Amino acid sequence: MNQNLKETIHEAAAGVYRILVPLPKNPLRFLNAYLIRGDAAHGGRNLLIDTGFNRPECETVLRGALKALNADPGGTDIFVTHLHSDHCGLMKKMASAGSRIYCSKADGDLINYATTPAYWEELDGIYAHYGYPSRGKTNMENHPGWEYNVREKVNFIPVDEGQTMEYGGYTLRSVWTPGHTPGHMCLYDGSKQLLFCADHVLDDITPNITVEVGMDNPLRLYLDSLGKVETLDVRTALTGHRRSPDSFRKRIAELRAHHIARLEELIGILGTRAMNAYEAAAAMHWDVSFDRWEDFPLSQKWFAAGEAIAHLQYLYGEGRINRFESEGVYFYSRD
Ligand SMILES: [Zn+2]
Repeated sequence: MNQNLKETIHEAAAGVYRILVPLPKNPLRFLNAYLIRGDAAHGGRNLLIDTGFNRPECETVLRGALKALNADPGGTDIFVTHLHSDHCGLMKKMASAGSRIYCSKADGDLINYATTPAYWEELDGIYAHYGYPSRGKTNMENHPGWEYNVREKVNFIPVDEGQTMEYGGYTLRSVWTPGHTPGHMCLYDGSKQLLFCADHVLDDITPNITVEVGMDNPLRLYLDSLGKVETLDVRTALTGHRRSPDSFRKRIAELRAHHIARLEELIGILGTRAMNAYEAAAAMHWDVSFDRWEDFPLSQKWFAAGEAIAHLQYLYGEGRINRFESEGVYFYSRD
């Protein structure tokens, strides 16, 4: 294996290879795709978990890594953990005619819906309802989900909660973890205490929680899903980005504390006057290199607004704040 491949491929567990797929111009930097190598002696198939964006920089690296691991597309199935294009963008290109492509029904449907402009118009409409300024079609055109995703529909094999599949000596049970997306799925092997947790639990960054078509209180779902995986016995948590947490339960506690602090921050921000989510996002603290909200790039404003919406909707759902509508926009207030 040459030096580049040595840096790209890492055996994360017996027969499970983490492949670092670069995400150019994206603050996440890399996607962790995973290959579970099938037991060739018994004709076993490989399983590729997630893929990277549909762009050449990702495709070159992923193809090279799969070749080095002797995983030819004809013998490889693909599991898509969720609808985001950094996870599913290359699935079509990595599949052969006989490959199974697994995804939850909810996210599979949204991936196919997102191949049409109607999805992006609906999403823009949702954001507009929360006060995000309309910029015609630019929200869609600036979104990596549109730019780097597949453009044709995929015939997914739908995966339900609690289904099991066998690959390379692993028995993987699907664990539905809605919140980051409506159909986000983890894969768990209890006997090996191994969890592929994709973007449900990340170590040095916080998973982005935002509204989605068909999901208007994502933080409520997310916190419930954190509680769900917290009960699992996990020694190795294989994340969708960055490094694995040293302690899975400790990381869950930190993520929960982060959201509680964000909720309290918003309660404070709403102390002065009623605001829509976009205005609240501009008043929140963000760990970025820009001093002023006006200087945030459009994509950062989009993600920030999404986070503000998720937290305000949670507070509203819990009855801690009020919501009213004015000229087609939701406003939140403390009284
Ligand atoms: Zn994601």
